[in-house]
Amino acid sequence: MNAEIIAVGSELLTPSRIDTDSLFLTERLNGLGVAVVSKCVVGDDRQRLAAAVATAAARSEVIILTGGLGPTEDDVTRDAVASALGRTLEYDPEIEAVIDARFRRMGRTMAEINKRQAYRISGAELLENPNGTAPGQWLMAGETALMLLPGPPNEMKPMFDNHCRPRLEKLLPAQAIATRFYRIAGMPESDVDQLLAPVYTRYKDVATTILAAPGDIQLHFYAKAPTAEAAEARLGVVAPQIEALLGDRLYSTNGDPLEKVVGDLLDKRGATLAVAESCTGGMVAERITSVPGSSRYFLGGMITYTDPMKESLLQISDGLIYKFTSVSEPVARAMAEAVRFHCQSDYALSVTGYAGPDGGTERDPVGTVYIGLIRPGSVECRRVRYLGDRDRVRKLATQAALDFLRLTLETPHPGQA
Ligand code: ATP
Ligand code: MG
Repeated sequence: MNAEIIAVGSELLTPSRIDTDSLFLTERLNGLGVAVVSKCVVGDDRQRLAAAVATAAARSEVIILTGGLGPTEDDVTRDAVASALGRTLEYDPEIEAVIDARFRRMGRTMAEINKRQAYRISGAELLENPNGTAPGQWLMAGETALMLLPGPPNEMKPMFDNHCRPRLEKLLPAQAIATRFYRIAGMPESDVDQLLAPVYTRYKDVATTILAAPGDIQLHFYAKAPTAEAAEARLGVVAPQIEALLGDRLYSTNGDPLEKVVGDLLDKRGATLAVAESCTGGMVAERITSVPGSSRYFLGGMITYTDPMKESLLQISDGLIYKFTSVSEPVARAMAEAVRFHCQSDYALSVTGYAGPDGGTERDPVGTVYIGLIRPGSVECRRVRYLGDRDRVRKLATQAALDFLRLTLETPHPGQA
């Protein structure tokens, strides 16, 4: 079964507002085994919207509209859907009574224009909206189910979950979906695709999506089958092959982000972490502390951006910086050692590099980053080099630092089980 989503609202066509409702709805629909095959944003224009509805209704079984159910002249969704389907709008005194009661509860009187919201497309069922004035509407046009939902996410989400989802489930053929959410660090999207395509293209009934961000690839697999066991069994054939090919590049099998995986590994070891950052300016610490409960393992750290701060806060000798420059392996190691000593942590990470656009040397051009890592008993350093702008280099360096720590934490340490 295929779905289309139409986000209504001229504000969604400006640079300042973004349609997030469709992301939520897509996630919910995919969970029901319904694929979203098309989505669009249409301004508050009756004719354009009616045309979009007519097109969608001619080719898809599920149409969800969000927004444009308000009381003002520019809220045209009810009108447009009625006209696209050749139906009339019927005044429903019951809706008016509900809206009126809502205003009374807030100690206000209903404005005359709110009566616009009391119109129902003929044949539509109303969907109650405890969080706003506009009720939603559900209607069938032949085999096609149409839903008119309010735009504000806090109204739309519960309405979908409480009223649309149960109705949709009744229309769906009996089927179950099994999913796997993988995450991969430190591999470009093209490499991931080249490595895995020979496997996933062989299983046509397993849907694959790849989402790429700098240094982080998400891979989603969905298998549909009449029963949960059968769907799980299909993934049970594909998943081990994917996992074997990815090896230690695969850091998450449940969609957890890298900072959560690293935090769990530290937690499991009962170990603590400190960081010393230069070119990432706190981005490593930001990601680590974005995880609730990170105070169990993250002690703190220092942002030492200039050479004098590296000397005074981390007590790195000016001789070392003079000899090797602050973007070098000896300084990265010294930063990690110093912050570990200051914070008395078990592990310490350091990052120093040239984020650009200026700087760099012949030996270490812009995009070169040194990552130091202390674990109990040893200190290591990695040199990485990235192409791209400042933002990209900093994001990739942050990801590489977290991944370096993740790999170290996953490897048994000498003398440990
Ligand atoms: P209301 O009864 O509140 O007027 P409505 O159905 O008319 O509801 P809109 O007026 O279109 O909804 O949108 C109200 C607000 O909801 C917008 O300003 C926007 O912040 C948010 N909104 C609308 N559509 C979306 C969307 N697709 N994604 C995210 N937010 C949205
Ligand atoms: Mg509106």
